[in-house]
Amino acid sequence: QRLTQGLSRTSQNLTESVTQVFQQKESLDDAALEELEDLLVESDLGPQIAATIAGKMAQQKFNSAKDSNAVRAALAEALADELVGHEGTFEPLAGPRPYVVLFVGVNGSGKTTTLGKIAAKLVKSGAKVLIVAGDTFRAAAVEQLKVWAERAGADFMGRKTGADAAGLAYDSFIRAKAEGYDVVLIDTAGRLQNKQALMDELLKVVRVIKKVDPEAPHETLLVLDATVGRNALSQEQIFGRQAFVSGLVMTKLDGTARGGILIPIAKASDAPIKLIGVGEDIEDLHDFKARDFARSMVG
Ligand code: GDP
Repeated sequence: QRLTQGLSRTSQNLTESVTQVFQQKESLDDAALEELEDLLVESDLGPQIAATIAGKMAQQKFNSAKDSNAVRAALAEALADELVGHEGTFEPLAGPRPYVVLFVGVNGSGKTTTLGKIAAKLVKSGAKVLIVAGDTFRAAAVEQLKVWAERAGADFMGRKTGADAAGLAYDSFIRAKAEGYDVVLIDTAGRLQNKQALMDELLKVVRVIKKVDPEAPHETLLVLDATVGRNALSQEQIFGRQAFVSGLVMTKLDGTARGGILIPIAKASDAPIKLIGVGEDIEDLHDFKARDFARSMVG
């Protein structure tokens, strides 16, 4: 329900237009299919995926194109087909303890918020959670994370501004092992002004964590903001190329009518989409399920 609500901008955009296109037509003729394809491109699906989906719709037989429920169901099906194989699960409590999760992504993408939501859910389910403020350069980010930790009932670890992020990550893992934490959630820096410096810092964090346990970090989530549209695609390329990303989180899907951007990102990435954010509340973070997402996209 919250998912459908969260995606209402995208679905209104798509559904209303799709319904309009077909209401005036008796069948899915070429003109209608062309309009559909344009609509899909407008939803940020990109030309290739839009063409594939329009092609699939062309093969469908509808009693009448006016049967908008059937058309929408077929569209949802075609959208979901594009996402099969690109969904993944995030289950920190099913893995080894402590389970170390790294959050990476550009500043403003929603790392802190996503981390806070996850912490709150985990604590609620009885887990002992340590939040680590690995973005040691932004004092405001550290403060914001501290607020989330208090709200979630998780423990918090930070250092003074400018402290070595890798050192902090290392110490937090050692502490978590010693004190029996279930999950360690580590925020990282996301300033893209100097990409290489940022990647070097992230790789160093990964390296020192591996010194404690070669299997860790058990998860590295790349957080991407859906409202920046195709910029999110290039961010995926920048972080994904470093090959340590194990899952994607797409945030702010409630803030855009172009939620379709998720599909080209899913297809471009080697890592599956694991979570989606559709608002600022704790309940607004969802496991990513291709069919549910596709259905919510068409309302
Ligand atoms: P960070 O810099 O990557 O840590 O980003 P933040 O977590 O601070 O998020 C940046 C802004 O986006 C904040 O104002 C958040 O409240 C907001 N935000 C994060 N996720 C979502 C979401 O799913 N929906 C909406 N509407 N806002 C979000």
